[in-house]
Amino acid sequence: MIADAFAGLGWHVPRLLAGLRAAPELYFDAIARAGVPCWHAGRAVLLGDAAWGVTLGGMGVGTGLVGAYVLAGELALAGGDHRVALPAYERRMRAYAGRWQRGASPGRFLAPASGWGLWLRDRLLATRPVQSLLVRGTGSLATEADLPDYAARV
Ligand SMILES: Cc1cc2nc3c(=O)[nH]c(=O)nc-3n(C[C@H](O)[C@H](O)[C@H](O)COP(=O)(O)OP(=O)(O)OC[C@H]3O[C@@H](n4cnc5c(N)ncnc54)[C@H](O)[C@@H]3O)c2cc1C
Repeated sequence: MIADAFAGLGWHVPRLLAGLRAAPELYFDAIARAGVPCWHAGRAVLLGDAAWGVTLGGMGVGTGLVGAYVLAGELALAGGDHRVALPAYERRMRAYAGRWQRGASPGRFLAPASGWGLWLRDRLLATRPVQSLLVRGTGSLATEADLPDYAARV
């Protein structure tokens, strides 16, 4: 699929394609997200990309860390009772990560299928308003989390 998609292109592409078959590691994936209806079952719980997958908004790492904090905090608050802690964790993270899921589905924008789309993406990412929008989005993730101070409540 890769060789077909890039056949006939110039620059370093022929050399890269020639090395592709012998490459020991190849990262090739679709930009996709599965909607997971429930993030916990019994003692098993999903966290990070496995649960909410806001990867492509640039929010994946921070949201994963928030999820780990909330999961640990809810377990501590519930005295280790997963039947209480896991639904509380999911409620809080659905509200929090859901906000980023709604705003962060930029697959078509980041990996456009046409030359015109690539041109537009590169121009937009180089403009100051778009750059400050990205920085504001990341900043609000860090500052508007409304997270409980679990240590003070346990
Ligand atoms: C190209 C790209 C760019 C990105 N850029 C950014 C960015 O700029 N900012 C940002 O915040 N986020 C970014 N992300 C997203 C970020 O990398 C993820 O959101 C984050 O790594 C999710 O962490 P995680 O721990 O939930 O999952 P992962 O990091 O995917 O960790 C899951 C781990 O589980 C392991 N695993 C899987 N199956 C098994 C198994 N059966 N047994 C044992 N281990 C297993 C995997 O090998 C992996 O190490 C980017 C992602 C990609 C792909």
